[in-house]
Amino acid sequence: MATDLEIARRAKLLPIAEIASRAGIPEAALEPYGRYKAKVALDFALGRSEAKQGALVLVTGINPTAAGEGKTTTTIGLGDALNALGTRTMICLREPSLGPCFGVKGGATGGGRAQVAPMEDINLHFTGDFHAITSANNLLAAMVDNHLYWGNGHELDARRVSWRRAIDMNDRALRSTVASLGGVANGFPREDGFDITVASEVMAVFCLARDLADLQARLGRMIVGNRRDGTPVTAHDLKADGAMAALLRDALAPNLVQTLEGSPALVHGGPFANIAHGCNSLIATRLGLSLADVVVTEAGFGADLGAEKFCDIKARIGGLAPAVSVVVATVRALKLHGGVAKAALGTEDVAAVERGVVNLARHVENMRKFGLPVVVALNRFTSDTDAEIAAVRAAMRVLGAEAVLCTHWGDGAAGALDLARAVRAEIERGAARFQPLYPDAMPLAGKIGTVAREIYHAADVAIPPPVLQKLAKFEAQGFGRVPVCIAKTQYSFSSDPTLLGAPSGHTLSVRDVRLSAGAGFVVAICGDIMTMPGLPRHPAAETIGLDAEGRIEGLF
Ligand code: ADP
Ligand code: MG
Repeated sequence: MATDLEIARRAKLLPIAEIASRAGIPEAALEPYGRYKAKVALDFALGRSEAKQGALVLVTGINPTAAGEGKTTTTIGLGDALNALGTRTMICLREPSLGPCFGVKGGATGGGRAQVAPMEDINLHFTGDFHAITSANNLLAAMVDNHLYWGNGHELDARRVSWRRAIDMNDRALRSTVASLGGVANGFPREDGFDITVASEVMAVFCLARDLADLQARLGRMIVGNRRDGTPVTAHDLKADGAMAALLRDALAPNLVQTLEGSPALVHGGPFANIAHGCNSLIATRLGLSLADVVVTEAGFGADLGAEKFCDIKARIGGLAPAVSVVVATVRALKLHGGVAKAALGTEDVAAVERGVVNLARHVENMRKFGLPVVVALNRFTSDTDAEIAAVRAAMRVLGAEAVLCTHWGDGAAGALDLARAVRAEIERGAARFQPLYPDAMPLAGKIGTVAREIYHAADVAIPPPVLQKLAKFEAQGFGRVPVCIAKTQYSFSSDPTLLGAPSGHTLSVRDVRLSAGAGFVVAICGDIMTMPGLPRHPAAETIGLDAEGRIEGLF
């Protein structure tokens, strides 16, 4: 069996100008980065008329398991299949982070015959966007410490600095650090730490900005810490917003690449779906919608995190309305939800599928709460048996949902034609009545409670009094109308990662809340959430390297 990298390397890529012309992007609007990557000029991307709007297809999934679900792979396979059927389609994805790439995932550009290319570039430095975002974040950090050093005119309390440094790497050694050691000339020592770039507020701001002016305004609103009286000091107070926007200007132009079958794909921005909102940039999605008849996009992790945030944060802020939602599941992952051990996944177990399918069923019902029609994509692995597949189909039939079997991983577009037809039929039926889950006017605690009850099926929400006070303070500061971004484990509907399947009756405990004033949401932290992951005992980095010809090996 060929690896993803071998398949990608064998593919004959088209010059990026040809992909652009297929997508309706004139060559004058292209800023090529080598032969197969380009940025689409920001003035072209922002100058598109709002009149023409394609249909938006939101690809999401069941709660992830160690077995892998294939949302990115399915997003790409579906896009290729729609194009093969003659529907002008663009794909919108996030840029991969180096952290998971060298940690466990080895890459995030799809798999098998459903990939975006050139995968080595996209997975590593690509067009430098994440370096720009990291630099902007750290410029602000440097300006914070510099402000403390030169007299601290804004009376920032050094113990209440909340702005952290960032690096796009899994490095647990940097979670908690001490800054400014070494004597008087080096400033005031204080506790500090690093977040992975994709968990930073700058990344979230980057992905939610409408244009350059909005980018700078959002950067300026970001809070770096508090004074002794509890009032916030912002990036704008420190006069950092202009320089940060300058660092980010070129990065804000969306990146154009191609799939192995020649479909245009915009790969731009990449916030985590737990602490941030988990989808590609708003500018890229809007550009895609202005060019294509259909845009297929992925929201990270399970639908309880990524799709909920897509609908309640990105769609709300960006004025988007999906036409249909595709929920991706695999028989293997459903068996894990049904209690099977990972080592036993190769053996047929229809009863385990029947137990685990409750996870999929709940996500299907949840997506309908947003007014979206749902198509289930059953991403086939070679070990799946016909009886197991029939069990998933039967469970979906009870819900009135269609489970479409797809084999795009092995067969490319040809393996997702049925899925593409089902999605197209839903778009043509026009049954979507999209609405976010809660209104802007609902109090913040009510918003958290609504997501907990409606999406997680929690019986109760526990918010300790000091946390409630913080929510009241955010409301008093004028941030009561923003959406909430719930940071919890991706593995379960609950905040306990070991509760698989479809748990209900649990209590969602909110440990803390943070105001992301620039991104425009309040983060509710439930359980232990990492803003800086660590590497596993044997990181993917151990097997990534160069072959004798200098080609990259080991990405997958
Ligand atoms: P997600 O976006 O849900 O995290 P990906 O699409 O990135 O998942 O896929 C995760 C991994 O699983 C990739 O390495 C991909 O090649 C692999 N994969 C996806 N679908 C299949 C399949 N049907 N058979 C075998 N491997 C697959
Ligand atoms: Mg993915």
